[in-house]
Amino acid sequence: MLRVAYDAAEAERVREHHPAFQRDGFAGELVPEGALPEVLQRPGRIGLLTPHDGAVHPARWLRALARDLERRGARIHEGTRVVQPPSLNGHGVQVLTDHGAVLAERVVIAADGALPSLVPAAVHARARRLNMLATAPDQQPRLPCPVSIRDGYEYAQQLPDGRVALGGFSDLDGPASYTDREELSVSVQERLTRYLGEDLGVSAPVTHRWVGIVSYAQDPVPTCGPVPGTEDRVLAAGGYNGTGHVQGFLAGRIAAELAVTGTSPQADLYARVVP
Ligand SMILES: Cc1cc2nc3c(=O)[nH]c(=O)nc-3n(C[C@H](O)[C@H](O)[C@H](O)COP(=O)(O)OP(=O)(O)OC[C@H]3O[C@@H](n4cnc5c(N)ncnc54)[C@H](O)[C@@H]3O)c2cc1C
Repeated sequence: MLRVAYDAAEAERVREHHPAFQRDGFAGELVPEGALPEVLQRPGRIGLLTPHDGAVHPARWLRALARDLERRGARIHEGTRVVQPPSLNGHGVQVLTDHGAVLAERVVIAADGALPSLVPAAVHARARRLNMLATAPDQQPRLPCPVSIRDGYEYAQQLPDGRVALGGFSDLDGPASYTDREELSVSVQERLTRYLGEDLGVSAPVTHRWVGIVSYAQDPVPTCGPVPGTEDRVLAAGGYNGTGHVQGFLAGRIAAELAVTGTSPQADLYARVVP
């Protein structure tokens, strides 16, 4: 993974990032402007390469996880939307879905983007949409590894077959980005298209455009723990600020430990669900 400083101010932050990384025991190499991928080279730019970092193919990753869970006896119901926050019902928890009600002993709400709607007590987390696009294969190899730029606002990778996936400019979306509506933002998509051609030099046509819904915590520590007023029968996790590929797994383990034993040695890493 390569972090690229967009301008001189970010280059300063990258220079501070490097020793901070090392203090925490991570490998990382500063990359001078001339050694950046050609398409990203601009006067004053530098990069920070973290060779231990990487990207996953989300669909393959989730299918592999799902297969493994099913082998262990879990049952997965897709296409069943929970339509309101789960509530106590006798000695259990009632989960109302668009296909009927489910009564459970315990419930874990592990849906980052849906945290604010399914856990109204998590007032400090807000749903946010992030725009993406992908292109047809571009003949020229431009990005040798996943790249994040402008403090992580933009992120791009070129797949082995040459396709480029690019996301970003959620700040351009402004207050409108705080929504759980799965609708493209026209202005952000236009800006991404321009960035693709002007900054990354990609001329391959755009084949896919989409948004993903996540949630951002104002704290900004993510949330994980019991939902107040549910006798600890409902646990919730989310508010990962766009970093759930790491945080989600840690929060998942904490939620599982809390559900099974009532305690977790790492529970204090995250904010509690408080109204
Ligand atoms: C464009 C983009 C780029 C990102 N880049 C990174 C990155 O580089 N690194 C990183 O760490 N993270 C990144 N993230 C964030 C990361 O994807 C999320 O933080 C992570 O997926 C959260 O995992 P989760 O399991 O909590 O929720 P999700 O992966 O969102 O899964 C929740 C599931 O619950 C389902 N669901 C939602 N609402 C309901 C409901 N009411 N009823 C039933 N089911 C429901 C959803 O359909 C989904 O299947 C990115 C996100 C986006 C959108």
